[in-house]
Amino acid sequence: MNYTRNLWQLQLLEKYHKSMSGKKPGNEIIQQLQQLKKEIEAGQMQLKELKTHYQRIKEQSFELEQKSKETRGKCEQINAKIYDGTLHVKEIQGCQQRVERLKQDISRLEDLELEKMQIKEDIKKQWESKKGTLELLKTKYKELHSRYLQEKEEIKERTAETARKMEELIQNVDKDLYKQYRQLKTKFPDPVGRVTKDACSGCHLGISFDKVKELKYEKGLVYCNHCGRILFWDPQMLD
Ligand SMILES: [Zn+2]
Repeated sequence: MNYTRNLWQLQLLEKYHKSMSGKKPGNEIIQQLQQLKKEIEAGQMQLKELKTHYQRIKEQSFELEQKSKETRGKCEQINAKIYDGTLHVKEIQGCQQRVERLKQDISRLEDLELEKMQIKEDIKKQWESKKGTLELLKTKYKELHSRYLQEKEEIKERTAETARKMEELIQNVDKDLYKQYRQLKTKFPDPVGRVTKDACSGCHLGISFDKVKELKYEKGLVYCNHCGRILFWDPQMLD
């Protein structure tokens, strides 16, 4: 019966458990998430600005529309006066000149309105394109974030699984032996040295012939004559 095999396995599990406990999903994934978040925020800001711009142009359009309506009204009033027969020829001429000026005003106002309409169309197109990009970024963020959570969960599960295995092994190790193992653990992170060929895996120094014999014939616990680690004779490793 090889008493130290369980200890050796426990040592391997403890090492693995330690490496897993401190583990987090990769730094790279966190950096990517942070970068995406920044891009999303910037995109949202741009959409907001476009919306404000659009609103402003819409108001300006409305004002222009009101103004040209008023001007058209004035124009019609004057026109009506021209033809109602109450004016002298000179007055009619004056009115006709005013009508001409108002018509020019109307034309200018209409041009401005068209310009605003074009600007509104452009903003709409920009908004849609930016919105599309933003949606893509959001989807990417969601996918990456769920991958992050999944990795985190996997690490947690593996750590818990290792802890369970460790607990099981401890139950199967002789209590005094386990105590010694714990004591040595305060000295070495790996208190068990596996003997491969004729060297201790802890200190890499050669084991004396006598110790090898003791190990081979399983004469109780054997310690490394150099570092004092508990030796684990693993015949499989010697083949
Ligand atoms: Zn040693």
